[in-house]
Formats: sequence, structure tokens, C-alpha cells
Amino acid sequence: MAVVNGTAALHIALKLAGVKSQDEILLPALTFVATANAAAYCDAIPHFIDSEPSTLGIDGYKLRDYLKFNTEQKGGYCINRNTGRVIRAMVPMHTFGHASEIDTLLAVANDFNIVLVEDAAESLGSYYKGRHTGTFGLMGTLSFNGNKTITTGGGGAILTNSSEIAKLAKHITTTAKVPHSWEYKHDQIGYNYRLPNLNAALGCAQLEQLPSMLLAKRILFKKYENAFASLSGVQLYREPENSVSNYWLQTILLDPSLSDQRDAILLSTNQAGYMTRPAWELINELAPYADCPKMDLSQVSDLSKRLINIPSSSTLAVKKS
Ligand SMILES: *Cc1c(COP(=O)(O)O)cnc(C)c1O
Repeated sequence: MAVVNGTAALHIALKLAGVKSQDEILLPALTFVATANAAAYCDAIPHFIDSEPSTLGIDGYKLRDYLKFNTEQKGGYCINRNTGRVIRAMVPMHTFGHASEIDTLLAVANDFNIVLVEDAAESLGSYYKGRHTGTFGLMGTLSFNGNKTITTGGGGAILTNSSEIAKLAKHITTTAKVPHSWEYKHDQIGYNYRLPNLNAALGCAQLEQLPSMLLAKRILFKKYENAFASLSGVQLYREPENSVSNYWLQTILLDPSLSDQRDAILLSTNQAGYMTRPAWELINELAPYADCPKMDLSQVSDLSKRLINIPSSSTLAVKKS
């Protein structure tokens, strides 16, 4: 179901997943702020989870242990023992286009009665065990923002295999109007979240480009792989085992011994005209989310200080260097 942007897609996906006021939503601390905002729009409370280094996604093993010690099952719901609130949903995010360990996360979600919704905003064209990211959870969401793999100017989509959910998604993203030739009847509070036709037209044209964009991004990865092969102290992120990455954002990880060099590297590369960027501030450190519940975040705190995104445009693959 096409919608106006990826954030709106997440908002509606969480609503349709049954998220209610004061529910807790498990989210990676390392993600774009939109993942947490979508939870907040439902008046739900983000609950931040640690990530693991191989995929930069949620650490499912650590999450399982955490839930074992901090939650109990009551009436089919997962209750946070420390807050008494329902942990309703989990939103893994496929970071920079690399698939999270989704089988592990699905097993945790099943065992603890938590709904899984995938934030696949960054992973259009990425596969886990041969299946497209965003198709494992009850729903998945995509973004077609200007910085994503393909763009509609602004746009997004909700993915689901349930025709019932798809129908509801269509209904509440288009003002919840009851179909009728002339009457204006709206049977619930709806949203004006439809993707405008102009943007959709751009999306149709962009979809035709998708295979060549993915190929170009893979070629760029190979170039970086060759370039970094002889450099010590940095590791270039590659697709995790069992998966195919879209290589949306090329990423390097500095050795721990170089973590205090990150800002100097960002400064000198940007001054030289190369658009390098740090990873996002961890969401639990942003003012609106500073008081939200969180587990021990030591892995991702360490990783996020050592990550650098390097120029990733598909056009770079064909330029002479
Ligand atoms: C881009 C992005 C979004 C939001 O998409 P918009 O279309 O910009 O609203 C959500 N989550 C993640 C992880 C993203 O990278």
C-alpha cells in the first residue's frame, strides 16, 4: 500500500499491529529517528535494544535473555516487569541495507507474544535467505524519500500479505471515507497519508531503474573493497551471511584503537569534498526519548562511535576514479 512517506507507513503499520496508548515498542537504539517517532505518534513508548556488529541490527540473542529476565506473560501479552506496560511490538530495522538476523528475531517475537513489524526503509532490494526484507513480519515498511535507493520525491509503502490489513491500511490512509458515489461519510479518524499520483508516477519510472541502481551500488562496494583491502584499521561493511544487501549506504567501521580519530576523519574528508557522515546519534540520547526504557546498550554505544558512512551514490560506480 503506497503512502506519503516512510514515517507515515510506520505509523499506520504500528496502529494496524494493534499498538495502543502507553504500549512499549522494542526498537534498535541505532536507527533513524522516524522509527521512534512513529511509535510516539501512537502514544506508545520506545524501548531501546542493543545491536550486534555483523548486521548492525537488533541482537536477538541478547534481546531473548533480556526479555526472559525482565518480562512476564499475562493473558497472552508480554508485560514489562519494571513498568507494568505491555510490550506490544518489535521493529527491527535493516541498517544501511543489510538484513537483520530476522529468523532469530521472529523466534523471539513468537516466543514472547510480540508483533514484529520491519522497518525496511533502507533495504529495498535486500534479501534474507532468498526472501525480500520487509516481508517477514506482520507488516514491513519502505521509504521512497530522496535519499533512498529509489525515490518518488517523497513516499513510502506498507507491505503485508494480509488482504484484510491491506484494506484497512488503504482505508485509514485515505481519510477513512466509506465508499459512496457522493456521500462524505468517514467511519473513524483517518489520515491523509495517500501517495499523490505525481509521486506515484515517478515511482513507476524509478522501479524500472531499480535493477541497474542495485548493480551500480554493488559495483561501488567492490571498488571500495579493493581500495580498502590494503588499509589496516578499517573494515568495510559487507552483506551478512545468508543475505543479499542493496548496499544503500556504504559503511566503514574503525578499529577500537582508532575510535578517537573518527571526528578528525570526518573533518578532513568533508574538507576535501567527500561526503562522509557519522552514524545517527543513538535515539535514546535524543532529548524527546531520553527517559524511555532501554536495555544495556554497550555494543551499539561502542559501534556507533566507530561507524562512518562513505559516499554511496550509484552514479559513483561508473565515474572514472
Ligand atoms: C528514511 C527512513 C525512514 C523514514 O522514511 P521517510 O520516507 O523519510 O519518512 C524510516 N526509518 C528509517 C530507518 C529510515 O532510514
